[in-house]
Amino acid sequence: MTTRISHWIDGQPTEGTSGRTSPVYNPATGAVTGEVDLASVEELDAAVASAAAAAKEWRTASLSHRSAVLFAFRELLHARTPELAAIITSEHGKVLSDAAGEIARGLENVEFATGVPNLLKGGFSEQAATGVDVYNIRQPLGVVAGVTPFNFPAMVPLWMCANAIACGNAFLLKPSEKDPSAALFLAQLWKEAGLPDGIFTVVHGDKVAVDAILDHPGIAAVSFVGSTPTAKYIYERGTANGKRVQALGGAKNHALVLPDADVDMAADSVVSAAYGSAGERCMALSVAVAVGDVAQPLVDAIAARLPKLTVGNGTDPDTDMGPLITAEHRDKVKGYVGAGQEAGATVVVDGREGDLPSDGFFLGTTLLDHVTPEMTVYTDEIFGPVLSVVRVDTYEEGLELINSNQYANGTAIFTRDGGAARKFQFDVEVGMVGINVPIPVPVAYYSFGGWKDSLFGDTHMYGPEGINFYTRGKVVTQRWPDPATSSVDLGFPRTR
Ligand code: NAD
Repeated sequence: MTTRISHWIDGQPTEGTSGRTSPVYNPATGAVTGEVDLASVEELDAAVASAAAAAKEWRTASLSHRSAVLFAFRELLHARTPELAAIITSEHGKVLSDAAGEIARGLENVEFATGVPNLLKGGFSEQAATGVDVYNIRQPLGVVAGVTPFNFPAMVPLWMCANAIACGNAFLLKPSEKDPSAALFLAQLWKEAGLPDGIFTVVHGDKVAVDAILDHPGIAAVSFVGSTPTAKYIYERGTANGKRVQALGGAKNHALVLPDADVDMAADSVVSAAYGSAGERCMALSVAVAVGDVAQPLVDAIAARLPKLTVGNGTDPDTDMGPLITAEHRDKVKGYVGAGQEAGATVVVDGREGDLPSDGFFLGTTLLDHVTPEMTVYTDEIFGPVLSVVRVDTYEEGLELINSNQYANGTAIFTRDGGAARKFQFDVEVGMVGINVPIPVPVAYYSFGGWKDSLFGDTHMYGPEGINFYTRGKVVTQRWPDPATSSVDLGFPRTR
């Protein structure tokens, strides 16, 4: 029995009419559990029309009303986290505790957005010129869209929609077609929280729907999170059509482990960040750069931890790591391990071997040592449970390696030396930096974003930059007539 997974338009589940669908799997069993509708251009047009009509009203809602809806949504999402986590695990495969973790990080964004009355406060300059005051206001854009990846089916949409809606926009989500049901659960909760129909819309689809979003004149802005080639494409096509675009791409995150690091702590951190969610995180650490004589103890400490990790169905509380998203992706990751081995890397732990569940898209943890920068296992984002160790002699060599990478999403340094950590924070050309913190995803009141090929656009996601992204500024210069001083003056207005 497969479930039909439909769109959510105008506050209602809406069956697709394009005749095209895509299978949705339970990655832990390999079974097809659903068929998701793939929207046509016409269906996207209808969704945008509904969202545009609703946006006209929503922008008139008072800030305190918007905030109240966000508080209600926050309470519902918090209370129903276990249900949503189960949906995520059934389509993505990550373990239930990890699914609950991504919801918790998404909730932070909702909590941030409840402060919208404060966030939208502008400045006011009394008497900027004689009898003249100047102030600025921030207004919503209208209909804004989000196109999101499979690996965080709740958190990434929440990064976007909480702020977009709080700012008075209608938000149209095109979630990943690989795990589309979390988006519908969020839609239902928004409705229960009292959000007007049409302000949160879900259109499922593939490239057809995404291209229609990029070309639609009624969509003012697009937030994208996904792989780098698609991010670049979205940015170029969206901005060519006059839209505001923030497009976050892939990553290759390095941990720089200095000789003075606490090896056990570094190994715990690196293992957690490399293999959590089977490595399918844009902030996963996929390279450990070991400086000097820390290399062998670090490799030994990581290798000692891997046999203790249980790979299995994410619904089992004893499971540490679930399956990969599809069989095709699992095979691609395996291929990288093979290529690394052929290129001369030492396979310390081989995830292709061992006792894995026979159904589902499972792969064990792999540790590769003596990886060098020209190997594909180093150059490419693998997005799987594979950690490469690159050995270098000095801090400078490690820094140079990180700074010459095309990606620059996150990085982390492990050391006990505050001066070295501070120097790294100053020197490293990466958007998000951890100091003895392996996954430095910023809290919701900062903004998230990488540099170089990890982000196309000028604005990072969520936090203060998210508020800016979903609003446009207007500056008002006002004078209230004082009949005693009024006269005709054709000169250019002066401020004195
Ligand atoms: P993806 O790029 O394949 O898909 C992302 C979205 O784009 C999906 O909704 C998909 O339907 C759509 N899409 C895919 N191909 C398209 C095309 N040719 N034209 C138009 N739309 C298209 O990414 P994914 O596999 O779902 O997610 C994994 C990737 O996302 C990894 O590269 C990961 O690093 C990245 N990611 C980045 C961040 C970040 O914050 N930088 C966060 C999470 C994931």
